[in-house]
Amino acid sequence: MRCHKCGAASRVTYTTEQPDLFRTKRRRICDNNHRFTSYEVHESIVLAVSRVKLASRIEGFKQRVRLYARDLRIWQARVLHGQSYASLGRLHDLAESGVRRIVASMSKQRSGQKLGAHKEKDEP
Ligand SMILES: [Zn+2]
Repeated sequence: MRCHKCGAASRVTYTTEQPDLFRTKRRRICDNNHRFTSYEVHESIVLAVSRVKLASRIEGFKQRVRLYARDLRIWQARVLHGQSYASLGRLHDLAESGVRRIVASMSKQRSGQKLGAHKEKDEP
């Protein structure tokens, strides 16, 4: 299953059978260390959810994944290739302050990932 934040592949870290709820709960982690939960349920439960609501939620995920990909490209151009904030702003049609905010946020996330990966070992 792809991550709803960045679109990367994920793997299951923990599975809990919940027979009284007719479902299986799975804790997951993606290649960019985002953690999330998925559920395995009977088809009829998913089909009971409004198609409009489902489509809207999926579109929200897609939008978030597109933004993450853009932010990652900006971060890489700045941090790995030293491209200026001003030129990145022009390239992505963003204010320079917006580019700075994206780079700071992505740097913070990426430094937190190392801690997150370490923390994973302590989980049951
Ligand atoms: Zn992710």
